[in-house]
Amino acid sequence: MLSVYTLFSGSGGNCVYVKDNSTEILIDAGRSCGAIEKALSNFGSSLRKIKAIFITHEHSDHTGGLEVISKKYQIPVYFTAPSYDNYVRAGSFLQRFAHRMDVEYVQAVESLTVSSFPVPHDSAQNVGFVISSPDDTFGIATDIGHLTDTIANSLCLCKRIIVEANHDVEMVKSGPYPQHLKARILSKNGHLSNEKCAEFCAYLCDHGVEEITLAHLSRENNLPKLAYETVKQQLCACGFERVPLKIAFADIAVCATDGKSYPFKKQEAIQ
Ligand SMILES: [Zn+2]
Ligand SMILES: [Zn+2]
Repeated sequence: MLSVYTLFSGSGGNCVYVKDNSTEILIDAGRSCGAIEKALSNFGSSLRKIKAIFITHEHSDHTGGLEVISKKYQIPVYFTAPSYDNYVRAGSFLQRFAHRMDVEYVQAVESLTVSSFPVPHDSAQNVGFVISSPDDTFGIATDIGHLTDTIANSLCLCKRIIVEANHDVEMVKSGPYPQHLKARILSKNGHLSNEKCAEFCAYLCDHGVEEITLAHLSRENNLPKLAYETVKQQLCACGFERVPLKIAFADIAVCATDGKSYPFKKQEAIQ
């Protein structure tokens, strides 16, 4: 069985910790090396035990800790080629440990297999991942400008998933952001709204997904309670009220694979 924890989530930094009985990896490292090390220590783990880091895309909320991590821990880091070319500086510590991967790529890391698939976003390239162990499959997709058949088909392979519920459209429109930022968030290469996420989650449940964690919530344009209730309502309307649903908090680790629901109270998220 895979255990998956969102250590950090949102524009302040993203990092997902995935492990089975023998192998541990990270998806993204968008917080400082020290913050990620501390978060892993709560699980009795350490960056020393991490066998590989897979990067969705080069934006700083997904990559911010990589240079120091590379310097201290020499962990292989996998980027798509466009993200690598955009982000990895010649002569950096990161360059010594960074690998280019195709957009649709399969990499074995000991007992785990990690497959990537394209996700539209305003980065050089963005990907989601399906992670498989011999007896389990997990999927993750965030920073989703718009939904595609490829994303749907990839996540339908998974029993449990992390998916983006970034913003409430009305909160974006009436919120404090300048017009160009509002347009970016709402564009086809921006982020996924609660409403679109809700419809998508119902579709996924209809195609075999059994547990959902909502991630990458905007601090300014969303509320955990609103994201949760928007998706929950849609799941209930479609007969999937029993599907465990939870929120990935910005700074508190949440288990995405424990079969429980964490509506929005922070204390309920602490393991
Ligand atoms: Zn991004
Ligand atoms: Zn992001």
